Amino acid sequence: MGVKVDITTYPGNIINVKPVPTATTGRSVNPSTGKALFEVPVATQQDVDTAVKYARDAVKTWSRTAFSERANLLLAFADAIEENHEDMEKLLVQEQGKPLSLAETEFDMTLIWLRAFATMDIKDEVLGENDERIVYQTFPPPGVFCGIVPWNWPVLLGMGKLGPALITGNTLIIKPSPFTPYCDLKLGEIGMSIFPPGVFQVLSGGDDLGLMLTEHPDIDKISFTGSILTGKKVMKSCAKTLKRVTLELRAALNFLNSGQICMLVKRFYVHEKIYDQFRDEMVEFTKTIKTGDGFELGITVGPIQNSMQYDKVKDMYSEIGKCSWKTAFEGGVKEATNGFFITPAIIDNPPEDSRIVTEEPFGPIVPLLKWSNEDDAIKRANNSKTGLGASAWCKDLKRGERIARQLSAGSVLVNSHFDVAPNVPFGGHKWSGIGSEWGTTGLKSYCNSRSLWVWKNAM
Ligand code: NAD
Repeated sequence: MGVKVDITTYPGNIINVKPVPTATTGRSVNPSTGKALFEVPVATQQDVDTAVKYARDAVKTWSRTAFSERANLLLAFADAIEENHEDMEKLLVQEQGKPLSLAETEFDMTLIWLRAFATMDIKDEVLGENDERIVYQTFPPPGVFCGIVPWNWPVLLGMGKLGPALITGNTLIIKPSPFTPYCDLKLGEIGMSIFPPGVFQVLSGGDDLGLMLTEHPDIDKISFTGSILTGKKVMKSCAKTLKRVTLELRAALNFLNSGQICMLVKRFYVHEKIYDQFRDEMVEFTKTIKTGDGFELGITVGPIQNSMQYDKVKDMYSEIGKCSWKTAFEGGVKEATNGFFITPAIIDNPPEDSRIVTEEPFGPIVPLLKWSNEDDAIKRANNSKTGLGASAWCKDLKRGERIARQLSAGSVLVNSHFDVAPNVPFGGHKWSGIGSEWGTTGLKSYCNSRSLWVWKNAM
């Protein structure tokens, strides 16, 4: 294809396959250095109206385009991303802070996801047939989708919405987080030479842009990933136009991405017989973890992504002293740098009602808790308003599965954590979301359901 993007310039939002500059621009900050990155556009209501109009026009043809052609364009898009992956991975480290190896993983996963979606044709289902009639369930696209993306996995989560939206015949506008707009804008730029006008657009701006999109009467569905608080706001503004909405909300996997992964382990319940040994080995392992700039070799924990989140995580660390929690490993703020660095901490058996147990810190701090009775451990593990990911670790596989089947979370794993795949639905129970993404179930959430009754006798 030969699409090569320059990761040092930002010509504008991507509207109708053109870069459109804005009068006002913004910048976000490299969280490892504290230095401002390049200017990015700040979209206005007029930009939103223009992009939505083009998306509506485009959906007329795109929704009728053959699956094979949509799939070929998705594959061409994946190839073009692959051609640019080295530059893009560096850009991701600069804007997000994650270690380069994790940025590479994010791009590798994105390519696997896009290529898998290109094979997932949602076919009509026959619900019943007799001599007189046949009843199908068909899955037409609602039309114009908007994907609202958080800052922790801007590429995978953005493209994890693009694949399903486009392959099912919808058009899509992506709104990245104001903290991490760079890679998503570049992906829009790559898409300009591949998709027809209006099919894939990117608008960058602040949180108010999210509101303009969720309230827009000509957008049919919002796919939102982010915090519970914002998810509730999204649902409220979507209600005004009865817009459809999918919500994916908060939720070694415990320090990876500096703890800023919705599905990471937030609490460890460890049997009392092995508690001390588990804690000590975890401490030994944690001592080997290096925190620093994502470009340095051997870094596992990068900075916290932005100053707002950094303050939240610091506030959680300040509870250690205030609440006299015992630490098995005492991490803390890494002074004398301009970046938002905090080293991992392990809290040793804090009270069950303490903040570190009941809240998601979204930083590299984790509590270990002791249990002796299986039913009680399950009850405590389920005693949370959220339920995105959970895992049961056990030598006895049958017991592991028995426990796993009782955990209320959208993804539950036995002897593993954080397995995800494009053909496996991903979503949350309770306050962790509404609906799911990926897999056939997820793809169907990018479709309407149409029951089609066809009578065989001529009138
Ligand atoms: P956030 O809720 O602050 O923002 C998410 C997105 O929503 C951003 O693009 C933001 O600009 C936009 N937004 C903000 N206000 C809005 C409004 N009123 N209307 C519409 N859009 C609005 O979340 P964040 O801080 O960017 O991301 C971190 C959160 O995301 C964590 O809580 C994490 O658990 C969650 N998360 C969940 C999943 C999942 O799949 N369940 C995955 C990744 C992250």
